[in-house]
Amino acid sequence: MPAFHMPTKIIKGEDCVLSNPQCLILGKKAFIVTGKTSGARSGALYDVIKVLEEQKIPYHVYDKIENNPEITDMARGADICRNYGADFIIAIGGGSPLDAAKAIAVYTVNEPTEDGEFKLYDIFGGSYKSKPLPMCAIPTTAGTGSEVTPYSILTLHKEQTKRSFSCVDTFFKYAFLDGKYTQGLPKQVARNTAVDAMCHLIEGYTNKKATDMTDYIAIEGLRIFGKHLAALESGEFTRDICTELLWASSLGGMVISQTGTTIVHSMGYQLTYFKDIPHGMANGYLIGEYLKGVNTVAPDKVQNVLTALNMTSLDEFNEYIKNILPRVADFTKSELEEWVETSIKAKNVASCPFFVDKSSELEIYIRSLL
Ligand code: NAP
Ligand code: ZN
Repeated sequence: MPAFHMPTKIIKGEDCVLSNPQCLILGKKAFIVTGKTSGARSGALYDVIKVLEEQKIPYHVYDKIENNPEITDMARGADICRNYGADFIIAIGGGSPLDAAKAIAVYTVNEPTEDGEFKLYDIFGGSYKSKPLPMCAIPTTAGTGSEVTPYSILTLHKEQTKRSFSCVDTFFKYAFLDGKYTQGLPKQVARNTAVDAMCHLIEGYTNKKATDMTDYIAIEGLRIFGKHLAALESGEFTRDICTELLWASSLGGMVISQTGTTIVHSMGYQLTYFKDIPHGMANGYLIGEYLKGVNTVAPDKVQNVLTALNMTSLDEFNEYIKNILPRVADFTKSELEEWVETSIKAKNVASCPFFVDKSSELEIYIRSLL
């Protein structure tokens, strides 16, 4: 992998989907992957269908993607895509439909069978006999940055957690960023997803794998958040602010495409799996204690994060996050002890800038949640 690899072409601005049909249409027959409501409620599905019909491209709308997509559902979606004969995918939605599209793109051309050469879990190997179908993405949340990452995060009921896969061909070919698709987000979804993007920028910036290039991008993304903290608090967004926040989210995606995340994400997965806490909210519960850990080894980096966010202290940061993320679940110490057994095995533990083992992860859980 080169020092910086991000092959997705980004098209940003007002009505960018309607005015760039040549970037949306990547083949002869389209499979549109979206959530139950996100495609329609954001207005993005309407624009996509308008372009496809004008260009006489046949399409199938697969709007069955649940939040936190589950692995066997992805193989089922791929069966439908394969039977329909689509040769490219348009993903519309938050991180869940975007990640689902990546898995469907792999499984459509690499059919998993129980006793065959390619099994369901082989997707985590990251190398496939047939190249995934080409895809483009229209994010309708400003958070995951999935439109510019190669990652897809799948729920595994067998392991009771989530795990990611990626390969060089699971980057989208094009990503369309238009704030009109995120402007109608419910207030709390807007906040949760924004905190997810902030976590990507912070975890990337403080990551052991950070480079000059990722640091530069991460600070720029945090500066954008710094300008819009009040809007996130009030829930009042113009279309332009929404496009800026989408851009900040994509910057977060570009950063973690190179660095990966850290323990905030791997510890957050348990909160989502066992308590159904939205992804960004789960990360937000943990980020304050994580930054305290970073402060013990790289106080300069913590100071730079705070300055970019227009804040003066970690207390101010924690207070802000607490204000925009309500507590939606209770936790017990024995639950946290169990979760550490899984979270400590995640590969991004190695990227954490300070030393972590089971007992220090447990401490972070306890201080964040009890
Ligand atoms: P999401 O699960 O995609 O969506 C959350 C909720 O928001 C859903 O109910 C969705 O409706 C709704 N929604 C989305 N856009 C909307 C809009 N414009 N208007 C109204 N409602 C809208 O949430 P997310 O936080 O964006 O994605 C989380 C997933 O991404 C997790 O599985 C997480 O692990 C993954 N993730 C991936 C990466 C990566 O690099 N690939 C990074 C971080 C996180 P529908 O149910 O109708 O869609
Ligand atoms: Zn995330």
